[in-house]
Amino acid sequence: ILVGLAVLFFGVALFIGYLMSKRAMVPIIQAFTRQREFVADASHELRTPLSVMLSSINAMEMTESIEADDFSRKLLSNMKDEVKRMTKLVSDLLTLARSDSGTIEILHETFDFRPHAEKVIQAVQPLAASKQINLHLHVPETLVIHGDSEKLTQLLYILLDNAIKYTPNGGEVHLSLSVEASEHRSMLCVVVQDTGIGIKPEDYDRIFDRFYRADKSRSRQMGGHGLGLAIAKWIVEAHQGTIHVSSELGKGSTFTIRIPFSVTQKRRCKVSDENL
Ligand code: ADP
Repeated sequence: ILVGLAVLFFGVALFIGYLMSKRAMVPIIQAFTRQREFVADASHELRTPLSVMLSSINAMEMTESIEADDFSRKLLSNMKDEVKRMTKLVSDLLTLARSDSGTIEILHETFDFRPHAEKVIQAVQPLAASKQINLHLHVPETLVIHGDSEKLTQLLYILLDNAIKYTPNGGEVHLSLSVEASEHRSMLCVVVQDTGIGIKPEDYDRIFDRFYRADKSRSRQMGGHGLGLAIAKWIVEAHQGTIHVSSELGKGSTFTIRIPFSVTQKRRCKVSDENL
C-alpha cells in the first residue's frame, strides 16, 4: 500500500509540476511573440518614411541650384546611400520577423531556374564590373525545379552579392546550378565560389547568425549589416535544404546549397564547366 501511495504521490507531483511549468512558460512565449510583432510592426512602419525621404532626396538632386553646388550634392549623395542602406536593413528585419512568426508562405512552384539565375547575374554585373571581377554562370539549358521562385532567386542574389563584396578587384566568381536526379529523388545543387578574402573556420557557423559580421569595419564599408546569410539560411531551411561553407583565408570561399525535391539525401555538388 505504501509503495502504491508513494507512486501515486510522485505521479501527482509530476503532473502538477508539468502544469506549473507549462503555465510558467506562457508569459515567456507571450513576451517573445510581442517582441516579434514589435520588430515586424516597426520595420513595416519605417518603410514609408524612408521611401518618402528617398524620393525627396531624388527630387532635390534634380533641382538646378543643388546641381551647381558640389558640397550640397555630396551631402545629398551621402544621405541617399544611408537611406538606401537603412531601407535594406528594415526590409531584411521585416523578412526575418515574418519568418520567425511563420507568416511567410513558401510557394511550391514548378519553374525553370535558369532565367532567374541570368537575371541575378545581370543585376550584380555592374557591381562586379566596378571591381573588374569576372562572373561565370554554369547552368544547363533548362533547369526545372520545385520551390519558391522568388525566395530562391533572393538566395542567389545574397550569395552572389557577398561573393563580389568580399572578393578583391580582378577576382573570379562562379555560380553553378545543377539538378541531380535519380529514380527516387531530385536535388537542386547551388554552388557559389569566389576567390575572395576567405572565412576563418571558427566563423563558419557564426556568419549565419543575425548581425554577425566576421570583420565589422570591412563589412560596414561594403554596405552590409549582417542579415544576408541569416535570410539565406532561412530560405534554404524553409525548403528543407542545407547550406554549407568551406573556405581558405586569402584564397576564397565556396557556399554549397542542396535542396531536395522529393527525398533528402546528401551528395557532393561540384563546380564544373559541364553545364556551360
Ligand atoms: P553582410 O551584410 O555583412 O555581408 P551577411 O550575413 O551576408 O552580412 O554575411 C555575414 C558575414 O559573413 C559578412 O560580414 C562577412 O564577414 C562574411 N561573409 C559572407 N560571405 C562571404 C564571402 N563570400 N567571403 C568572405 N566572407 C563572407
